[in-house]
Amino acid sequence: MSQLEQILTHNRHFVENKVYEQFKAERYPRKKLVIVTCMDTRLTELLPRALDLKNGDAKVLKTAGALISQPYGSIMRSVLVGITKLKAREILVIGHHDCGMVGLTAEPVLDDLADRGITEADIASVNEAGVSVDKWLCGCENVETGVMESVQLIQNHPLVPEDVLVHGLVIHPETGELTLIHDGR
Ligand SMILES: [Zn+2]
Repeated sequence: MSQLEQILTHNRHFVENKVYEQFKAERYPRKKLVIVTCMDTRLTELLPRALDLKNGDAKVLKTAGALISQPYGSIMRSVLVGITKLKAREILVIGHHDCGMVGLTAEPVLDDLADRGITEADIASVNEAGVSVDKWLCGCENVETGVMESVQLIQNHPLVPEDVLVHGLVIHPETGELTLIHDGR
């Protein structure tokens, strides 16, 4: 069953009771931070709490595995908007232990899609459009290499100024403990 009805009911109460007042913030990130992290559900509340981030402190970009697969895709564009228009000075790439993107290959994803009606011809049409589906659907070898690939992609990007600091970290999805793997200072 869709969650939509419950969400809309909750939302009416949220607005009527002015619950939003406690979340008031500016559009510019107060801590001048951009965070690139994974979409893992365990991190939704845990990550901001573990980093002491309140509403308004940081721009948070989520992508599976915190992997930026394309230098000119929408995640990288968001990073660039964050460090220019929105005045962020520091970027944290945060992967996590027990991430579904570690060791992911295209095969199980394509099997799932086949069960739901996606045909060989559909997949071939994507390959013909110039995207290697097998490569595009791959995750990372381990969490550290995945984080470092994203860190390096940002650091070496021709449009990222040198005064931007890019750090790499890994968060534990249960305890919230951070491990620093690259200090960008
Ligand atoms: Zn993940």
